[in-house]
Parts: sequence; C-alpha cells; structure tokens
Amino acid sequence: MSDVIIVGGGIGGLSLALTLEKAGIGSTIYEATPAIQQVGVGINVLPYAMRVLANLGLEKELAQRAITTQASAYFDRCGSSLHRMPVGRFAGETSPQLSIRRGELQAVLLDAVRQRLGPHRVRTGWECTGVLSERDDEVCLSFRDRRTGQKLEPQSAKIVVACDGIHSKIRQQFYPDEGPPRYSGIFMWRGVTCGPKFLDGATMVRIGLPSVGKMVIYPIHSYEDGTQLINWVAEIEVPDPGSFCNKRDWNCPGDAKDFVDVFADWRFDWLDVPELIRNAHTILQFPMMDRDPLPRWSFGRVTLLGDAAHPLVPLGSNGAGQALLDAEALASELAACRNPVDALARYEDIRRPATAKIVMSDRAGAPDIILRDGEERVRSQVALPTGRAFPRPARAA
Ligand SMILES: Cc1cc2nc3c(=O)[nH]c(=O)nc-3n(C[C@H](O)[C@H](O)[C@H](O)COP(=O)(O)OP(=O)(O)OC[C@H]3O[C@@H](n4cnc5c(N)ncnc54)[C@H](O)[C@@H]3O)c2cc1C
Repeated sequence: MSDVIIVGGGIGGLSLALTLEKAGIGSTIYEATPAIQQVGVGINVLPYAMRVLANLGLEKELAQRAITTQASAYFDRCGSSLHRMPVGRFAGETSPQLSIRRGELQAVLLDAVRQRLGPHRVRTGWECTGVLSERDDEVCLSFRDRRTGQKLEPQSAKIVVACDGIHSKIRQQFYPDEGPPRYSGIFMWRGVTCGPKFLDGATMVRIGLPSVGKMVIYPIHSYEDGTQLINWVAEIEVPDPGSFCNKRDWNCPGDAKDFVDVFADWRFDWLDVPELIRNAHTILQFPMMDRDPLPRWSFGRVTLLGDAAHPLVPLGSNGAGQALLDAEALASELAACRNPVDALARYEDIRRPATAKIVMSDRAGAPDIILRDGEERVRSQVALPTGRAFPRPARAA
C-alpha cells in the first residue's frame, strides 16, 4: 500500500510527488491518460512558484529551456505604453520569472519524478472513478481503463490527494450538486508563433481589454537564428459561446479566422499583432472558467489540490503557481504531523483561505486594472469601431 495516492499527473500532481519525496514520503501517481501528454502552449511561472521549483532543484534545468522574463509591460489598444515594471530577479526578487513551453515544464517535472521515485510510481491509463471506502487508516479508490472502459483493480493508500483538475471526479463526489465550472463571459484563443523578437525579447506584454479585444504576449523560447517562439493569448468577451468547446479541454483546436478581425488594426511599430496571429503554427481555444471557492477540501484521509481545489481564471498567471504552493504546504504538514488527518486539516487551513482570495480577485479582473485605465483614456480620444461583431468560436473538432 502506498503512503499517498496522487490522482492526476498534471503540474499539481507531479509537483506534489516531488515535494513529498523531498519530505521522505512515498507516493504513486495514477493518471487517466495513456501517456502523460504535453498539453497547452506557453506558461508563465511567477517568482513565488519558481521558489518552490528551485527548492526541488529544478531551477537550472527549467531556466535553460525557458526565457527569463525581465519585465511586464502594459499597452493600450493603440499600442501606446501605459506602464512597464521589472519582474523576478530584475525587480530584486530571490527567484526569476520564467516563460516556458508548458510541455517542457511538464517534461522536467515528469523526468524528476521518474528519476527520484522510480518509473513504476507513475501509472498511466488509470482513470479514478471515485472513492470506494475509507476505513480506520486506509482509503480505497476505484479505477477504470480510460481506453477500454474496463474496471481496474481498486487501489488503497493512507492518504489520497485529488489533483485531477477543474473537472475533478473526487471533488464531484464530495459536491455532487456543484455543476459545471462557471464561464466568465470571456473566450480565449492561445497560440504560438515563431517570429522575430519584439521589444527586448524578454518582456511579457498585456494590451487592450476583453471588451474590445485583449492580447497577452510573451516569448517562451529563443532559437539560434535569433528568432523566438512567441506565446500569445487573445481574450475576447463572448457572452454566449453556445455549445462550442464549452468544456475546458487542454487541447481543443481553434481557428484564427474566428477572432483575428478584432485585432485587424493592431499594427504597432513594435509588433504586428494580426501577422503574429496569422503566422501561428498552433492555436487552441478555451472558455475562461473558474469555480466558486469551497467551504471544505479535506474529508478524512482525502483532500484536493491545484485546479481540483481552486480553479482560477488565468488572468494573473497564478493557477500552476498556486498548485505548487499547495504541494509545498501539504508535504510540509504531512512531514510535521503524526496524524495524517490532522495534517490534511492544517494544510487546508493554510491554503484554502489564501486561494479563495485569489479566485475572487482574479475573477474581479484585478490583474487588468492598469489596462482598464488605459482603455478609458483611449475611449476619451478614439471612437470605438462600429459594427464589430463578436466572433463565433469554431466548433470543437
Ligand atoms: C489557458 C490557460 C492558461 C494558463 N496560464 C497559466 C500561467 O501562465 N501560469 C500559471 O501559473 N497557471 C496558468 N494556468 C493555470 C494552470 O495551467 C493550472 O492551474 C494548472 O495546470 C493546474 O494543474 P493541475 O495539476 O491542478 O491540473 P491539470 O493540469 O488540469 O492536471 C490534471 C491531471 O489529472 C488528470 N485526470 C483528470 N481526471 C482524472 C481521473 N479521474 N483520474 C486520473 N487522472 C485524471 C488529467 O489527465 C491531468 O493530467 C493557465 C490555465 C489555462 C486554462
């Protein structure tokens, strides 16, 4: 019997396996997909999250594969600068801010888990279907093979941590009436484009607002020929996305023609946004979603972590970082407490209020505050284009 079963091998589950291993606690990951996939496009790892990864000895390896972001800059939709601030070590923090291909981050975490815990500690193709029973010192989970639908042998552990993302099965078991995640009214298209550097080649920029079109753009990799892989996110208010791609899925393909017109006149002297979109070699689409904070995460020997516990709208680049903080706190409490049930309660006491605040402030659009001021300034000077139709998201493949 494992000490800890981790359900889900995403950024949260993999990080938890590593923080537990560092604390001398064994774990096994059960992941539903047949192979841990490299999902999504780019991701920003903020300094507070890099601190956790550095403590796991992974900073050097990640930095080699990433762009060390030097500054965060805000622009209005006419391309005029609103604000620029240094970030990470450039702002005097002890850790850097990295922008990286999501797949690279996952690969570094997965390799570290396989090396430190052993390859047999990551079991793929095991979809958890729920908590079967909990006795004195043991929790038992049911599983099936996602490809064949066949039942697999139940598995037991002293502790179970649900790291199974925004559509968590275990959360659903504890909260059967909760329903689907909450759509924010903003639809996102995310892409990567290989192209020339913009600005200094190490700045993350935010432009516009979702009501008129917003872009978040940052480089995630430099090539030897001087070009870069540039990650971008288009955020647009789409009040009713209809029945298209209404589930947040990491790999739902998108189509530039559904939204590029919103940015048609965004040709700045420092970046041509329509060209960036048209030259993309990958475009994915996501409805922007979160869930209300929960009154409780831990039920006996089972708890929630990462997006299973507190999915956030991705406005502040916080989701993966918060999962890393969860993983650090949970491992530390399990190492410190004799009784694992008390450890889960203490973990929840630390992390639940902290993440609830972030869910609500990101939902209220706190990270966009500078952009709102910029939009007000533009509105006082420029008439809004008339007749701009809301784009229609493409039907999911
Ligand atoms: C568009 C977008 C952009 C983002 N950008 C950033 C960013 O720049 N910075 C940042 O910090 N965060 C960002 N986030 C948030 C971040 O990606 C998530 O918070 C983070 O991936 C959560 O990790 P997780 O492991 O909890 O969940 P997930 O990454 O969703 O992983 C869940 C895992 O569980 C598996 N699973 C699901 N169900 C089962 C089951 N029943 N049994 C077994 N396995 C199961 C899944 O296959 C998956 O591997 C972004 C999110 C989105 C949607």
